[in-house]
Amino acid sequence: MSKQAIVPKAGAAIDLKKFDPAYTGDYDKESAKEETAKLQERFTELQEMLYAQGKQTLLIILQAMDAGGKDSTIKKVFEPINPQGVYVYGFKAPTGEELGHDYLWRVHRRTPPKGFIGVFNRSHYEDVLVVRVNDLVPKDVWEKRYHQINEFERSLAENGTRILKFYLHISKEEQKQRFEERLADPTKHWKWNSGDLEVRKQWDDYMEAFEVALTKCNTKYAPWHIVPSNHKWYRNVVITKTIVDALEDMKVAFPEPEEGLDKIVIPD
Ligand code: ATP
Ligand code: MG
Repeated sequence: MSKQAIVPKAGAAIDLKKFDPAYTGDYDKESAKEETAKLQERFTELQEMLYAQGKQTLLIILQAMDAGGKDSTIKKVFEPINPQGVYVYGFKAPTGEELGHDYLWRVHRRTPPKGFIGVFNRSHYEDVLVVRVNDLVPKDVWEKRYHQINEFERSLAENGTRILKFYLHISKEEQKQRFEERLADPTKHWKWNSGDLEVRKQWDDYMEAFEVALTKCNTKYAPWHIVPSNHKWYRNVVITKTIVDALEDMKVAFPEPEEGLDKIVIPD
């Protein structure tokens, strides 16, 4: 386990206390950054083939506590990728219109088309995380959602979408430090939200909700990856490597060219 995210066995019960958020494998900051840059070269090639082929879809789901690094993962890992081939969408608290539908409606609308990479910053998992922790709907409603989510993801997978789910695992202490940095840096003040402190008070409840989601919704067709994320450079190399491996496995390739290209003469 040096470059890989931790992929628990489907069905195995997850105890997050057993996963060290500060784990860095064999890497230090420098070697991780170097490796990430190398992997990104391949990522760029594979993304172009995915787009050119136009037959398959890659959906990446990011979940984490506040300041867990979802935004910075998107910024760093996707930096060299052609923005034309990537859909990024952040799920906020549902609007009135969204609440008028079932919880998966707004999610399905944002799934990327063939040839594209979709990145979800938060996702339908909020409907078994924040919703569960705060009793936003009755238990008999949210508890059926694990099964519904598995079936939803199965349907996407069976229709040509590769799904990678990343849980960015940070410690409570690391969150404190990142909040303190936000408060100390005027260019990060826009990120400050006093409501995040209320969520921090519920840390243990969230860990439990994550454990249940990571346990019940960890399937072969849509696996969870637990990414030790206290160190951003380690998080980035692990996620980039996981994406590259998935695209290699999808066998993306340029489509067959039209016949006779070698005989074409471009008129003056
Ligand atoms: P940042 O890291 O920049 O703060 P963020 O993802 O936390 O980004 P915010 O606008 O601060 O963005 O937070 C989005 C909020 O929306 C979160 O508190 C999240 O729990 C909430 N949310 C998302 N989906 C749902 C949902 N289905 N039901 C209730 N709340 C939701
Ligand atoms: Mg926030």
